[in-house]
Formats: sequence, C-alpha cells, structure tokens
Amino acid sequence: MGRALIIGCGGVAGVVIHKCCQNSDVFEEIMIASRTKSKCDAIKEKLDGTTATKIRTAKVDADNVDELCALIDEYKPDIVMNIALPYQDLTIMDACLKCGVNYMDTANYEPEDTDDPEWRAIYEKRCRDEGFTAYFDYSWQWAYKKKFEDAGLTALLGSGFDPGVTQAYCAYAQKHLFDEIDTIDILDCNGGDHGYPFATNFNPEINLREVSAPGSYWEDGHWVEIPAMSIKREYDFDQVGHKDMYLLHHEEIESLAKNIPGVQRIRFFMTFGQSYLTHMKCLENVGMLSTTPIEFEGHQIVPIQFLKALLPDPATLGPRTKGKTNIGCIFTGKKDGKEKTAYIYNVCDHEECYREVGSQAISYTTGVPAMIGAAMLLTGKWNKPGVYTVEEFDPDPYMEALNKWGLPWQIDDKPVLVD
Ligand code: NDP
Repeated sequence: MGRALIIGCGGVAGVVIHKCCQNSDVFEEIMIASRTKSKCDAIKEKLDGTTATKIRTAKVDADNVDELCALIDEYKPDIVMNIALPYQDLTIMDACLKCGVNYMDTANYEPEDTDDPEWRAIYEKRCRDEGFTAYFDYSWQWAYKKKFEDAGLTALLGSGFDPGVTQAYCAYAQKHLFDEIDTIDILDCNGGDHGYPFATNFNPEINLREVSAPGSYWEDGHWVEIPAMSIKREYDFDQVGHKDMYLLHHEEIESLAKNIPGVQRIRFFMTFGQSYLTHMKCLENVGMLSTTPIEFEGHQIVPIQFLKALLPDPATLGPRTKGKTNIGCIFTGKKDGKEKTAYIYNVCDHEECYREVGSQAISYTTGVPAMIGAAMLLTGKWNKPGVYTVEEFDPDPYMEALNKWGLPWQIDDKPVLVD
C-alpha cells in the first residue's frame, strides 16, 4: 500500500521498524535513514528474510533540508516518519513541504541551542504571553498549518504514547463516554527496573531537559507553573502497585486545552524513584544538565551532551529491564446529566516487549503508536490537509489498531481519583 521513509535509528525507531515490518500490507517498503548508517544496516540485516516489507537504508543529516530533499526525491516515500529528535522537526517539515510528502513525529519541536538569541527572544515572549517556561511548545509547528493545507499535505504531530495515545484516549472519552469532560489527569507510570543506579528510558538529553524543568498544568483557562517536582502524589497502579508520581509540564496539555471544549483542568504526572531524583538533582546542582557549551582543555563541550555519552544508551536497556508500565488518563465529567468518571489505560510488560522486538517498554509504547499513526495516514483513515495532533482525528480506527498491534487498553469506570 505504501512506502515510508523512517528518519532516526535509535531506541524508538528500532520498535517502529519492527512494527512496520509486521504490518507489511501497509508498509510495503521502508527506508531507514539516520546519521549513523551502520545502525540502519544492522537492523535491516536482522529483519531481511523475516518480513515481506522491502527495506533500504541511507545516511542522512536531518538538520540539512537539501540532504533530506535529495533523499526524498530519490526514494519518493508516501510519508516521512520523524523518529530522530525534536531538534529535527522543523527541518524535516520543511523538506516534506518542498518535496510534497506527508509528515509525522512523536515529540514537539525544541531547539538544540537554547542560547540562540533569535530563538530566545521568541521563547521569552511566549513565556510571558502563555505562562509556562518549557523549552518546547507547539507554536513552531502549528505555524506550518496553512502551508500544509495549501500543499494538500498532512502533518501528524506527536504520535507516541504521551503525547499520542493519551490524546486518542481523550478523543475516545469525548466521543463515546462523556457529554462534558471537566478534568483530565494523565498518569505515566514506569514500574520497570533496569538495575542501573541511573539511566534514562529514552534519549537522555531530551528526557532530562523535560523532567528537570518547572512543572505546569492547565486550570480555568490558563497555565499554573510550579517549581520542578514540587507537587507529589502517590497512586496505586494496576499491575504495578504503589508509586510516587510528580506533576510535570507535558506537551499534550497544550493541544488538549484547545481541543477538548470546556475542560477545566489538565494535569500530567510521571512516576520517579528516589534514586533517579537524587541523581538528577545532584547532576543539576553541579551543572551537568546545562545546554550551554563550556571550554574544556581546548574543546567546546555541552555538559548535557557529555553526560549523554556517559549514560547507558536507552536502546541497550531492553535485556535488563523487568516490570511493567501503566499509562493512561483519568477523566471526570458528565454523561446524560450525571457525574461520571473513567480511567482508560494500557499496561505493558518490559520483558514481553523485549521478547517481541528486542526493546524495553518505553521504546515499545512510543514506537507502536508511531507505526499506527503513519498507517492511519497511509491507509487514508486519517486524511485532512494541515497540521494536527492525535485528538483532532477520529479515535476509533487508532484505538482499534492499538488493540491489534500490542497496546491493548482497558476502561475502569470507578477509578481512584488524584486529589
Ligand atoms: P535516540 O537518541 O535513541 O535515537 C535518536 C536517533 O536519531 C538516533 O538514531 C540518532 O542518530 C538520530 N539522529 C539524531 N540527530 C540526527 C540528525 N541530525 N540526522 C539524522 N539522524 C539523527 O532517541 P529515542 O529513540 O529514545 O527517541 C526518539 C524520539 O522519540 C525523540 O524525539 C523522543 O523525544 C521521542 N519520544 C517520544 C515519546 C512519546 O511517548 N511521545 C516517548 C519517548 C521518546 P545517531 O544514532 O547517529 O545518534
């Protein structure tokens, strides 16, 4: 049915590639293109002969629009799947517009260099206007809406688990379970243990930037920002047990606040163990999370990039990680004039993911919805020109695909609420 160009070959892309190869009716051909071609060749070698999907590989620098265009013009994909880093979102969107091809990704744009004065001026204005200080926000990619509409192309933003599946849960709750949604609490619990004192489950630079930033939530039409990790709750997660969780800023809050009419409050909580938090605080205190380059023995070094080089590669955590994830959304609202609650969630087992695709569950829960999002566009189930997040499409085919492709969901209609 279609041909996909997959950019990036890290932890999440490994799952995306396996899943596309399981779904050969839709992904007849894929090209894996990344900065380090040997990683693309290694996964091609592993999968060739086990799948009907035809695999090619290439080297590309996705920061370079001309290089991307040369590859797109040569391969002629029906969709470009950006599974590299959020730093590349805009260059890949530019290349898709130039070459006339649909686009998707799993995380919204943030700049690699947060000291760039041009970016910083826009960022500081946005902090004042909007009231949250995260480095990432949707404005950069929403600014492409008209260009994609005029070109008759679709850009699907943030089709991982969170963002991604969590927004499909919201659209499903809106369509089938509630007349009005009052509050949404997104709970992201990782009950997995990889045995290292400190490691991140996805790209360390992106992960540590996200969790060390101030938290924020949406309430009564505006953002409320709080110091990092200053709101803590305990929750008893199905199949995982009691965990401490902390309120974080998260990108889907921004789009849900626009797209779920009448919603009064949206919060996002993620679980962290004490060891993770202690390590992170210590690294932050000594300056290791800084993105500002420093001079060291004649070299320019970005501290957080040096830290990334020291930490275990998330793609190697698969064989060591045991336990489960539980990620979902708790809703309160009204149906037929009565108060109602619902909790839609998925439980995913790290070891089962490893047996199936050789990855831990964080990469799995991101990679499966990325494949599904691309399949929605390739099969025409989701088809409208412009730039959209997941909750702006019909959730039904996506929710059905989650059950089919390894992330089955369930609904608890009497969940314990978070105070
Ligand atoms: P990794 O660091 O493991 O992989 C990133 C890949 O992108 C690497 O293969 C890297 O190449 C490649 N890459 C980086 N820069 C370039 C470039 N300029 N040109 C070409 N390729 C490049 O990251 P993850 O797999 O952990 O994460 C991938 C994405 O998934 C991130 O955007 C992350 O934010 C997102 N994510 C989303 C989640 C969700 O639920 N929505 C959850 C978790 C992650 P090289 O190997 O040479 O370094």
